Amino acid sequence: MSTAPILSWHAHVYYDPAHSRSTAEALRQRIGERFVVQLGRWHDVPVGPHSAAMYQVAFAPELFASFVPWLMLHRDGLDVLVHPNTLAPRDDHLRHALWLGDKRALKQEVLPLRIAAADESPIVPNTTPTVEA
Ligand code: ZN
Repeated sequence: MSTAPILSWHAHVYYDPAHSRSTAEALRQRIGERFVVQLGRWHDVPVGPHSAAMYQVAFAPELFASFVPWLMLHRDGLDVLVHPNTLAPRDDHLRHALWLGDKRALKQEVLPLRIAAADESPIVPNTTPTVEA
């Protein structure tokens, strides 16, 4: 089966600003050292459909097979939402997602059913790996 409808993937790394931000920082650094991804801003306050602090890691479909298994082994207790981007944000987050660790609540009312291709953010990698994954 083709996965062409999957334009990209997001991994949302959740943390508790008071207790696990340093763990999230260490994970973020290790990701950036190993994978060509787009590391998003820190959100110490919940944004969008997310109910806890997190940062986003956006990555290309061809990275899934190497990055997601690595994340499974190295998330260090942090909960991670991995979802595809297929121009159907509600389904992508609620039906098509996978969770590493505990599943978190999402605010489904802020997730559109469909978006236009032009509204899908292209991935702009901002990491320069120096370490073999
Ligand atoms: Zn996302």
